[in-house]
Amino acid sequence: MSNNKRDPASRQLEEWYEKNKSQIGYVTSEAGVAVPYADSSITVGKYGPIVLEDFNLFEQLAHFNRERIPERVVHAKGAGAFGYFEVTHDISKYTVSKVFEYVGKKTNIAVRFSQVAGNLGSADTVRDPRGFALKFYTEEGIWDLVGNNTPIFFMRDPILFPMFIKSQKRNPVTNLRDWDMFWDYLSLRPESTHQVMFLFSDRGIPDGHRHQHGFGSHTFSLIGKDRKLTWCKFIYKTNQGIKNLDPDKAQEIAGKDPDYALRDLYNAIENGKKTKEFPSWTFYIQVMTPEEAKHQSFNPFDITKVWPHEDFPLIKVGKFVLNQNPGNYFADIEQIAFSPNNLTPGIGASPDRLLQGRLISYQDTHRYRLGANYEQLVVNTTLNKVSNFQRDGRDAVNNQGGAPNYHPNSFGGPDPDPNAMSWIPPPAKVEGDVDYYDLGEDDNYSQPRVFWNKVLDEGGKSRLVDNLANSLKMTSERIRNRAVEVFSKVDPDMGDRLRNMLATEIVVNL
Ligand code: NDP
Repeated sequence: MSNNKRDPASRQLEEWYEKNKSQIGYVTSEAGVAVPYADSSITVGKYGPIVLEDFNLFEQLAHFNRERIPERVVHAKGAGAFGYFEVTHDISKYTVSKVFEYVGKKTNIAVRFSQVAGNLGSADTVRDPRGFALKFYTEEGIWDLVGNNTPIFFMRDPILFPMFIKSQKRNPVTNLRDWDMFWDYLSLRPESTHQVMFLFSDRGIPDGHRHQHGFGSHTFSLIGKDRKLTWCKFIYKTNQGIKNLDPDKAQEIAGKDPDYALRDLYNAIENGKKTKEFPSWTFYIQVMTPEEAKHQSFNPFDITKVWPHEDFPLIKVGKFVLNQNPGNYFADIEQIAFSPNNLTPGIGASPDRLLQGRLISYQDTHRYRLGANYEQLVVNTTLNKVSNFQRDGRDAVNNQGGAPNYHPNSFGGPDPDPNAMSWIPPPAKVEGDVDYYDLGEDDNYSQPRVFWNKVLDEGGKSRLVDNLANSLKMTSERIRNRAVEVFSKVDPDMGDRLRNMLATEIVVNL
């Protein structure tokens, strides 16, 4: 195949070489010292043993042995890119956030898309929610909006997160994905039903990362002037249009090009450099006043629920554009770390129980995967000067020089910014008995019912039932029956269709 017929991803090395060939120097050790030989060890005679003195060989082998870091326990396989967010509509009445300060304001961003359950090398075209996380490099620090391609999620309580994930990953004995585990958990926790219906609908297998919407999913808070609080949702809609893969096509692609979505994103951005058409999304919020929140028929802080568009219309805010591929995948994407607790002034958390769990667990996983100083890695670094009392640890690049490492001190602090009092959330009155409250039975079916009856047309319904049946037929009978009962509670028609389809399906025992 001639060079110009190959896609930009395939041409990457040729292009790099053309650009850099005049500046390529000589090979060195990690210490920058010239190395006399790259392709041979030092031996005693032509066919004799290797000498211990060959430290260049040992450096290479030792480094190679340490080249992998733990893969993410979820969202291991992904793709990422860089670009900018631009404000197109003023929402400064809701928030003092500098990101939304004025129309035309641009903030640099990084984005990572991912699949949830598979391991690092797994196929991109599987039925799985997609992670869709945004990192805003703001002048007020890093804001991470760690979203998905769905506005809802599988559970309300973070204690169930590891349970859910384990049920979707490998069986500890067989080391295989296990459909009994998968459906056992989901059918025993019916608050997952809304998300399961999205997952098995047409949108459960997006055609690449560019053709899907994104959602901050949780309820967040916006803090305006005088500490005025508004609850909010963040939504980003694709400007490329929604495109999905049908399950057969997706399976075929998984065999031919497991990196389909990664390749598509890379090529779209490289091609965009010529056409000036880059992947982009329009950014919206939905808002709810604290007073309105008290009077909803559903819990606005329950992540298994959406806020209906009719009552809480989308408010246009801006757009974001991805116009730069990573300079190096490992440095920029494997090492990128998003944390829902990275919230900048004017944007805050909410009593959403799952969000509360995520506020502490993400930093913890990054410390395990990347080390205590992961926020000093270039891709995670804030534009702001970091001034605090944390020091040392592995890979401490910015160790804050001679500044005091304790507080209070007589050497200039640093002390808290007195302006912070103007943007912290207003005081919240909270009352209640400290106890265990399982929210598993909190209205699990009303919104899935609306999804079935109002959103899906006849084709959408029958494809949803088909996709569910194709998965359920791989489970044991009692788990399958329990799952059908759950879907019957969404709508008896849905349950009947599923029951009939499973009765005529040949149940496979893979
Ligand atoms: P609307 O009737 O105003 O709009 C329906 C929404 O569903 C649209 O956002 C549409 O996306 C989206 N949609 C269409 N097909 C699918 C699919 N297969 N999987 C996931 N989403 C899909 O929504 P309401 O606000 O009145 O809510 C009705 C129901 O719609 C909800 O119970 C929920 O199940 C679903 N929904 C609601 C969302 C919300 O934030 N309110 C968001 C997504 C779904 P698009 O705009 O691209 O056409």
